Amino acid sequence: MSLPARTVDVLVVGAGQAGLGTARRLVDAGVPDVLVLEAAEVGASWTGRWAGLRLFTPRRFSTLPGLPFPPGPGESPTRLEMAAYLRRYADVLDVPVVTGTPVTGLTRAGTGFRAATPAGEVTARQVVVATGPHRRPRVPAAAADLAPDVVALHSSAYREPADLPDGPVLVVGGGNSAAQLALELAATRPVTVAAPGVPRALPTHVLGISLYRWLLVTGVLNAGSGTPVGRLVRRRDEAVFGRDLPRAVRAGRVRLVPHRVVGAAGRAVTLADGSVLPVHAVLWCTGFLPDTGWLEIPGALGPGGEPVHRRGASPVPGLHWMGLPWQTRVNSGLVDGVDRDARRTAGRIRRALDGAVGRRDLGGPPPHRLGRQTRWPDPATSTPPSSPCPSPRWPTRP
Ligand SMILES: Cc1cc2nc3c(=O)[nH]c(=O)nc-3n(C[C@H](O)[C@H](O)[C@H](O)COP(=O)(O)OP(=O)(O)OC[C@H]3O[C@@H](n4cnc5c(N)ncnc54)[C@H](O)[C@@H]3O)c2cc1C
Repeated sequence: MSLPARTVDVLVVGAGQAGLGTARRLVDAGVPDVLVLEAAEVGASWTGRWAGLRLFTPRRFSTLPGLPFPPGPGESPTRLEMAAYLRRYADVLDVPVVTGTPVTGLTRAGTGFRAATPAGEVTARQVVVATGPHRRPRVPAAAADLAPDVVALHSSAYREPADLPDGPVLVVGGGNSAAQLALELAATRPVTVAAPGVPRALPTHVLGISLYRWLLVTGVLNAGSGTPVGRLVRRRDEAVFGRDLPRAVRAGRVRLVPHRVVGAAGRAVTLADGSVLPVHAVLWCTGFLPDTGWLEIPGALGPGGEPVHRRGASPVPGLHWMGLPWQTRVNSGLVDGVDRDARRTAGRIRRALDGAVGRRDLGGPPPHRLGRQTRWPDPATSTPPSSPCPSPRWPTRP
């Protein structure tokens, strides 16, 4: 674990899709001196999720710019395929990505920042925080009132059915994780789902075309968070991709109680309608919170530790967020939505660096026209550019 540089123009914290996509767009914008620090390994969030997880986004919509998703069995990738894709992306990105190096503290240093890591300090003129919105399990307070012999796990700690004891399981939540895990568990035991309402299940395909594609072409996924469409989508509960859950409920393989869990006592939970459900094991699919405890900069976080930002720009000059749900659009928190926000963030950073020192002092070429270069050239038909700017290492064909 060694740091290639102690002072950089831009430090990107986190090597998930948001961090790597931003690093790519910084390269395109001609920012020469970028460093990505990653606490674990590239794509760690995906390897850390449950074994049977398949993305709900089809392969072609699970990509970052310039590197198509390799073909494979099934329309959507598995979590391991996604992690491998991100590792490949980091390999062909001409930016140092240092793994196993968590940023444990970020403070101001003059007009820039000082990041503390176990391998030493890095100073940076601009910082992009791309550490992911799904870091800390969000579990209802009632969970603490369950008896110690009730096995209760958050979805982030669940890997496979054997993690739960034989016998009935209560799955709490109405989103995609709850739906996928309820179906997985229903193959071997009785499952009840307690969701805040009847989950809104969408078909995966309409007229033979993936729903994700329909939502893209109709502009729903790219709708701005503040537009009428964006506000409407945000007001509604998370939609579940696929109709397998309602089918299983109709077939009696899964029991659905459309009420929130509001309390717990011993071996039972209380639902919002006042009914009481005995429980043997509970799987909380109740979402996540970001982990921002290491950010020690006044004004960067709200009272609950939530990022303060406008379209990803922090009120703290030089600090930027990436990968936040609803950052600018409906799909900002999805793989496919990274690039639009990354281009915006890279442009903002390039302008800030230009304004601070003058373009020539950066030593890089003039910025590319962002938005035009949305794809890396096909390595089979093009030659690497001769420009002195850091360029992608060209992916070889498998
Ligand atoms: C169960 C589940 C299924 C999902 N399925 C889909 C799907 O099918 N399609 C889709 O588009 N989206 C999906 N998402 C949403 C989203 O795409 C993923 O959560 C994705 O992992 C978010 O990417 P990210 O880069 O923002 O964060 P992450 O993937 O979480 O990456 C953040 C990285 O930052 C690192 N890090 C954290 N703290 C530090 C630190 N202090 N210093 C250095 N590094 C740090 C982490 O180790 C991690 O590698 C899903 C989310 C969940 C929870």
